[in-house]
Amino acid sequence: MTRRLPWTASAAVIGIALVGCGEVNTSTFVDDEALADATSGDNWLAYARNYSEQRYSPLAQVNDGNVSELGITWYVDLPDDRSLVGTPLVVDGVLYYEGSYNVLRAVDATTGELLWEYDPEVIEHAGDRLRMMWDYSRGIAFWKGAVYVATMDGRLIAVDASDGTELWSQMTVDPALPLIITGVPKVFKDKVIIGNGGTEFGPIRGYVTAYDAATGEQAWRFYVVPGNPADGFESEAMAMAAETWTGEWWKYGGGGTVWNAITYDPEFDVVYLGTGNGAPWNTKIRSPDGGDNLFLCSIVALDADTGEYRWHYQTTPAEAWDYNSNMDIVLADLTIDGREVKALLHAPKNGFFYVIDRETGRLLSAEPFSKVTWASEIDLETGRPVEIAGARYEDGEAEVYPSPWGAHSWHAMSYNPGTGLAYIPTMEIAGLFSDEGIDVQAWRSPDWAFDGAGVHLFGADTPADAGTSSLKAWDPVEQRAVWEVPLPGAWNAGTLTTAGNLVLQGRADGQLVAYRADDGEALWSFDVGSGISAPPITYAVDGTQYVSLLVGWGAAMTGLGGSLAAQHGWAYKVHPRRLVSFALGGDRELPPSPPPFIPEPIDAPDFVIDQVLAEVGAPIYKGKCALCHGPVAVSGGNAPDLRASPVVLSHEAFVDVVIGGARRTLGMPQFIGLSEIQAGALQHYIRAQVASAPPE
Ligand code: CA
Repeated sequence: MTRRLPWTASAAVIGIALVGCGEVNTSTFVDDEALADATSGDNWLAYARNYSEQRYSPLAQVNDGNVSELGITWYVDLPDDRSLVGTPLVVDGVLYYEGSYNVLRAVDATTGELLWEYDPEVIEHAGDRLRMMWDYSRGIAFWKGAVYVATMDGRLIAVDASDGTELWSQMTVDPALPLIITGVPKVFKDKVIIGNGGTEFGPIRGYVTAYDAATGEQAWRFYVVPGNPADGFESEAMAMAAETWTGEWWKYGGGGTVWNAITYDPEFDVVYLGTGNGAPWNTKIRSPDGGDNLFLCSIVALDADTGEYRWHYQTTPAEAWDYNSNMDIVLADLTIDGREVKALLHAPKNGFFYVIDRETGRLLSAEPFSKVTWASEIDLETGRPVEIAGARYEDGEAEVYPSPWGAHSWHAMSYNPGTGLAYIPTMEIAGLFSDEGIDVQAWRSPDWAFDGAGVHLFGADTPADAGTSSLKAWDPVEQRAVWEVPLPGAWNAGTLTTAGNLVLQGRADGQLVAYRADDGEALWSFDVGSGISAPPITYAVDGTQYVSLLVGWGAAMTGLGGSLAAQHGWAYKVHPRRLVSFALGGDRELPPSPPPFIPEPIDAPDFVIDQVLAEVGAPIYKGKCALCHGPVAVSGGNAPDLRASPVVLSHEAFVDVVIGGARRTLGMPQFIGLSEIQAGALQHYIRAQVASAPPE
């Protein structure tokens, strides 16, 4: 028997926030004690299961001896969802997850039956934030009796876990600024903390805010980079940070958004932030007379009660490549040179794997886990990278590894204390950096457009063979890969590891694969019918261990990745979105999925391309359209491939969609400020891409 979700349609028609009549009863009290407990595997209480952020489960019913018997025990099709990249939570047999646009659902974790749904009506609230593509979230938080959702448009909302009613809602960003949230609220000590993202869209200054979990009242806020000194600094930490900036950085915001990693450490009562890249990336604009630009691209430790600065470690001083440190911060107890170390593990975009003593903030070791050409090593005396001349594109165009996609992005790594290995989804893609022809004196931050790098980017397609990717099992003590398996394309999902000597990972090609954790032997795989961008979780109910994951090709590379993403054939709205659960002996079958499909550009000889208009349209397309529809109009699956769209052939229809907002309810933004002439220029630019595309 399969579940078809009749409620999806009814909820949309009636427009109510709450459907179903389920009443959820939980016995687990989710507090600091529960979230610090690593021993009980039945629940999955937090984004990375518990405070350690390890994504390690002590469950071993499913193990390296029997994983081949894993099969589907229940699934739910999600026809109205799109990008699904999040981690569900499980509390006492109830699974909570977010669909697209932050719709929160509670289902029976043994059947998938819907218990309730809460819709924060993001499209209604988003306004211009719809232009920022990010219709997905990486997850939610659970504290005592509430579930916490951070919406794309910047709200933090507490929802009653028993029935889905809203308890409070707090706006966490200034709606006049292009800030959005894709990150996960984190809870600790009756507080809930959230950051945001958007450094490429405008003059953005990063910060996090902690709120009272019961009331939504603000407890504290920490800014990551200093503001205008003329306005005074919020803290001594900001005064200290300002010493590392030059020029008039505040005009560009500075950057440093905390859009992903926030880890709470109960042993030191500290919150660690993984901080973002510069706004803009180009230091010649941002801080023209040098400086490290604290606290960009850093791990910053804060007092959990007050948000006061404790220590920091900067992975990429004066970053110039989008090498943010927003990747997970994992807590692990290691034995290094015979000494017990309370360590944190961090594998940011810049390609080095860092092991840091989290009591002191001191760097213990750092080695490249992927191809790195911007620095030769990290000097352990100073803790600073030894940079390679030319990498800062100071002598002209530079090909640098890693690319802005990173050697590792937000796709979660896991750590298994049994094997002592971290399991990292890695990428090896070259970045081509140049600011030739950009007037760095006259440069201005963009106004709600994806154009805030200050270097030339995404002006060409990214070919399908532009890079490679692999799953690496990394020994943080020895600082070396113990095993590695190649992965398809570049955009593969985060990992789960268990006491059953397993690592599970979903891939870009739609395969969920189980590996033996200690040696990387592939033991089992399953085709879920669509590209996977979300990590699996595991939990147990009534003695049965389940493995569950969301299926829904999505997030940044499915928009900006061009042919590198498009090669898998997960075209917009063609393949199913699902929540799938496996158990030993599971024998449900999924309905057949359409084969991979790559849209064919429409042949339209009657549309005569005006090259002058096409050139006018190029920068508009790059700033406003490329993020979702792909550079040079090659879609990676996040949005329709415009070369195959009949709408582009009709000026009236095109204006109706782009300026008139005819498809706003589907998530297509409305560009009121665009003129009809500019819209026409976009049409000619898009059609020119069909004409210039190389033959298949
Ligand atoms: Ca960035």
